[in-house]
Amino acid sequence: MTARSVLITGGNRGIGYALAEHFLSLGDKVAVTSRSGTGGPDGALTVAADVTDSASMDAAFAEAEEKNGPIEVLVANAGITDDQLLLRMSDDSFENVLGTNLTGAFRSVKRAIKGMMRKKKGRIILISSVVGLYGSPGQVNYAASKSGLVGMARSITRELGSRGITANVIAPGYIDTEMTQQLSDDLKKEYQKAIPAGRFAQPEEVAKVAAFLASDDAAYISGAVIPVDGGLGMGH
Ligand code: NDP
Repeated sequence: MTARSVLITGGNRGIGYALAEHFLSLGDKVAVTSRSGTGGPDGALTVAADVTDSASMDAAFAEAEEKNGPIEVLVANAGITDDQLLLRMSDDSFENVLGTNLTGAFRSVKRAIKGMMRKKKGRIILISSVVGLYGSPGQVNYAASKSGLVGMARSITRELGSRGITANVIAPGYIDTEMTQQLSDDLKKEYQKAIPAGRFAQPEEVAKVAAFLASDDAAYISGAVIPVDGGLGMGH
């Protein structure tokens, strides 16, 4: 297999870092972005870019494409939470979470498809969450941003499906990263009771599913929402 040019937003820790390591292990050329521009795995090109800022994203893509070639696989992974019950949630909190998780994915995809359309080949993977379709108290902003990614992937599929480009969503459940390490032990135990698998997942378990969606074997899968949640969201 020839090395593909892969770009992962938010790749300096957590799921994004595991994604980068996994694609590197497959022999791909990997670029990761983060706001600081530091912290990606050895072997990856780490570039500074804020997904809320189109100019910095454009510069990051240009640098990645100059070094690794046109992006063939994009994983829009950068994401934040800012939990608060609806009555207390500020407009700023709602807009900031949407701005990073949903508009940030839009910016990444819009920039990535230029090269994909020229190549008539591309894989777009949007990292959503089980919460996007399941809902979660205190996460009206986060759930709205993550369900928006489903409509985004399906519309991209209808627009670009005939050009060799697929767009899919991965909906992880609880994954052991800094994002979930913020939860109290009591809350973690409570969540684990609701998960049929009885545990949180490791970030690598998401990375392996992304690698499959990026492979030639997945060429006929597009507009799909693939859960990696130990059965938590079943039937949603
Ligand atoms: P982390 O908090 O560990 O990492 C988040 C990543 O996003 C970091 O690399 C961070 O880099 C980057 N990031 C955040 N804001 C921006 C921004 N404005 N511009 C560029 N990069 C940004 O999160 P996880 O690894 O846990 O989560 C990764 C994705 O998976 C997120 O979209 C999250 O919503 C989703 N997810 C996570 C789950 C979990 O249980 N952990 C469950 C379901 C979904 P930096 O701060 O340096 O910029």
